[in-house]
Amino acid sequence: MSTRIKNRISAKAALFTESVIREMTREALRHNAINLAQGFPDFAAPEELKLAAQEAIAADINQYAITWGSRELRAGIAAKSAEWQGRTIDPESEITVCCGATEAMIASLLATVNPGDEVIVFEPFYENYGADAILSGATPRYVSLHPPEDPDGEWYFDAAELRAAFNERTRAIILNTPNNPTGKVFTREELEVIRDLCVEFDALAITDEIYEHILYDGVQHISPATIEGMAERTITINGMSKTYSVTGWRVGWTIAPPDLTAAIRKVHDFLTVGAAAPLQAAGAVALRLPNSYYEHLSKDYLKRRDQLLTALRAAGLIAYRPRGAYYIMTNIAGFNFRDDVEFVRHLIADIGVAAVPGSSFYNSSLGSQQVRFAFCKRAETLAAAGERLHRLVAR
Ligand code: PLP
Repeated sequence: MSTRIKNRISAKAALFTESVIREMTREALRHNAINLAQGFPDFAAPEELKLAAQEAIAADINQYAITWGSRELRAGIAAKSAEWQGRTIDPESEITVCCGATEAMIASLLATVNPGDEVIVFEPFYENYGADAILSGATPRYVSLHPPEDPDGEWYFDAAELRAAFNERTRAIILNTPNNPTGKVFTREELEVIRDLCVEFDALAITDEIYEHILYDGVQHISPATIEGMAERTITINGMSKTYSVTGWRVGWTIAPPDLTAAIRKVHDFLTVGAAAPLQAAGAVALRLPNSYYEHLSKDYLKRRDQLLTALRAAGLIAYRPRGAYYIMTNIAGFNFRDDVEFVRHLIADIGVAAVPGSSFYNSSLGSQQVRFAFCKRAETLAAAGERLHRLVAR
């Protein structure tokens, strides 16, 4: 019997592909490859957080939290922002706890963007932003982050190119600092250039600061909302995933002025109702960890960065030195592969190391000779990957 099935897929869902990053994780499992693709740690989360989560469940914190986040967690977020950023934030009207920074970003866009509005995104970008723009009806305008000539140098944007992307339809700019995948940490001067354009064009900044505590080489994280004139037009996004090595907990948040927060809370409520209540309770404990926790975090990541950077360079890749986050972007042009996808397939199937094709961070074809490696892994994992990478040869 022949049945006719009409096209059941929405125009929006048809417009973007599955996450390449998460696909690479599945490929890594299939080939038993070392997974340097997806950014999740293969080491334990802090003991006190695991205990706090267990205790919260035992204490029956098992029902819905307040939809925009438990009081305790919001108080913790406000206190930490005061200590680290010198910001005064009202947890009653300016914070929304979400299911990860991922939900925080889509909820922020759905709350602020109308179909046809333009949203500026630096390219290469964390791949979710492309799909987020489509889901929210925004038209993305990409502005290049250029790789440095010297791989130890800084990725940069051209202020004239950025200015050319702003116009009266610009609703927001998405900023990710420290940046995935480049490791760039935006400087105060760069943020001031962005501020001037946001003010001139009355645009919002939606800032993903999920790697704020993972920094190298003495570089400082500057939260864009702390730049004069930005607090009233910034939605600051952060979360527990990276800072506390709990990517599976799905706890993130937004900090935004009350009118924006009210809109974000409405969207968030109907998207997910709320993040897991016992993990919010454990989150409040995490936010009270002493400053030494963050110092150790950065120091441990510095060792991992240097270990992988050395291994990638020894294998013949041009590896850009990241100043923050836990990824290394590389250039593979010297290996004479057709493109990044062919290179990564070979890397996974024949070398036994998984990475992410650079093209998944680009809208343009500029990523076709780039590949991203994650180093949020144990020293043994990175050493084993380094051994295997020795087998890489040019075609
Ligand atoms: N933002 C960036 C820049 C990321 O790299 C990631 C994860 O890799 C996320 C957000 C996801 O954050 P969350 O786990 O809080 O949803």
